[in-house]
Parts: sequence; structure tokens; C-alpha cells
Amino acid sequence: MILCPTCRKKVYEGSSSCPRCETQLNMLFKIEKLAGNKYKQGCLYLKKQDYKKAYIMFNAAYHLKADDRIKKGIIISLVGLGDNISAIKMALRIIQSKH
Ligand SMILES: [Zn+2]
Repeated sequence: MILCPTCRKKVYEGSSSCPRCETQLNMLFKIEKLAGNKYKQGCLYLKKQDYKKAYIMFNAAYHLKADDRIKKGIIISLVGLGDNISAIKMALRIIQSKH
């Protein structure tokens, strides 16, 4: 299930449009899938301790969908790269998004 970006109704994945407001959802599902794939690739690079490539993948995912698990991937890769200041800034975004 995902939330319709227009009316926030829960919609089954694979639906071509929202049953309540008729917003077209095909592109949204494509973006969700692409973000998920980039996230998975980032995780694989993290396991190989290739933090630079992991950061590139997580950052690509983040521009498609700024969710917390993607932000956490960015934080881990930034720490791996030794950029603690940027990692802290991203961690603050997670804390601030809870309010
Ligand atoms: Zn809707």
C-alpha cells in the first residue's frame, strides 16, 4: 500500500490511478521502484565498504524519495567517508521530519 500524493488515501501498489481522486499513479510507482532499487544497490556497496559508491546510490534514491531508511543509508556512507559534519546534518533532518 502507498499513500496517494494528492488525497492521502491508501492505494494498492499496481493501481494505475487513485480510486478516490483519480490521480494517475503509474509514474509514482515507477519512482518508488527506482528509489528501492537504488537503495538496495547502496546497501550492497555498504557491505563491500565502498562508501563512495554507496553514497552515490543512496543520494540518487534520496532525490527520488526522501524517506528515513534512505537518509540512514546516506548517514552511514558519509561516516564511512569520514564526513561526520554532513552525516550530522542528515541525522538532524530525520529528527526534524518527526515533528
Ligand atoms: Zn487520491
